[in-house]
Amino acid sequence: MTTQHQIRAYVDYLRDMGIYDLYHRDEPKTLLPASLREALATATKPVPVPAALASTRSVTAPVAVQPTVAQPTAGPDPFARLTAAPPTNELTAPMPKPPSFDSLVPLPATVIPPAERAAALEALRAEIGDCTRCPLAYAGRRNIVFADGDPNARLMFVGEGPGADEDASGTPFVGKAGQLLNNMIAAMGLKREEVYIANIVKCRPPANRVPEFVEATTCSQFLLRQIDIVRPEVIVALGATAATYLLGVKQSLASLRGTWHTARGAKVAVTYHPAFLLRDPRQKGEAWKDLQRVMAELGLKKQSVEDRG
Ligand code: URA
Repeated sequence: MTTQHQIRAYVDYLRDMGIYDLYHRDEPKTLLPASLREALATATKPVPVPAALASTRSVTAPVAVQPTVAQPTAGPDPFARLTAAPPTNELTAPMPKPPSFDSLVPLPATVIPPAERAAALEALRAEIGDCTRCPLAYAGRRNIVFADGDPNARLMFVGEGPGADEDASGTPFVGKAGQLLNNMIAAMGLKREEVYIANIVKCRPPANRVPEFVEATTCSQFLLRQIDIVRPEVIVALGATAATYLLGVKQSLASLRGTWHTARGAKVAVTYHPAFLLRDPRQKGEAWKDLQRVMAELGLKKQSVEDRG
C-alpha cells in the first residue's frame, strides 16, 4: 500500500466514525522526518553576508543582479501560514450542521396506500429525471441510483452514496459492501427484496469521496419523499453520513449507536457502514448488536443456524 493509499484509508476510517473536519493545527515541522526538518531549518536560516561583500554594496559600482532565489531573511516564521488556524470561508469552513429530515417539511398526514406506493415511487423517479441539481451531475456519474427493494418495506437501509459498481448498474449496494449488506439482511432472517435500500445521494461522488454538504442536502429532499412514500417502521442509517443527514446532527457514530432516534415517523437505528466493516471486521459483532435491536423492534425471530441454512 502506498503512503497515499494509507492516508486515504485512514481518512475514510475517520469519516466512518463521523469525524469530518480535519486541520493541520499542529506544528507541521513535527510531521516531517528529522532529516527533512534539518534541511528545512538550514535552508531557511538567514545567510550571513560577509563583511567584505557588505561593504561593496555601499560603493557606487553597479552590483550584478544574481538570478538566484531570494535570500530568506530572519523574518516571520515561514510556517506561520500553515500553523495558523485555517481561514473560514465557504471552502474551508467546517461542515455546517445539516437540517434534520424532520425539520424540513411536515410529515404528510395522508399515508399513500400500500398498493399505490410503487407507482408513487416511479413518479418520483420520473420527477428526478436526468438530474442536474447538484455538482455530482457533472462529476462523471453514469447512472442515477434511485433505490432497490420493496415499496412497502417495514425496514429501510440508508447508505451514503453509490460507488463504482452501483454507478455502473444503477442499483444501490451491489459491490463488495453490498454483498456484506446482503449477508447482514439474511442474518436478520430477511431477503433483500423485502427491505428498501437507498442512499443519501443518488449519484456517485468522484473517487468515492464523502458527499459535500450541498450535494447531500440537495439530493436528500428526494430520499425524504421516498421515506414518506414507503413509510418504513425502522430505518437503519449505515454509517456517519447517513446518520448525519437523516438526523441533522454532527456527532460521532459511537455516540449515535445504541439508542433510538426518529425521522419521518420511523425509528432510526445507527450502525456501521458495511464498507467500514470490510475495513475493520472486528466491529461486525457491534453491528450485529445494532441489528438485533432492530430485529427485536420489528418482532423478527432470532435466526438459528438451521434457519439460516
Ligand atoms: N456505499 C453506499 O453508501 N451506498 C451504496 O449504494 C454502495 C456503497
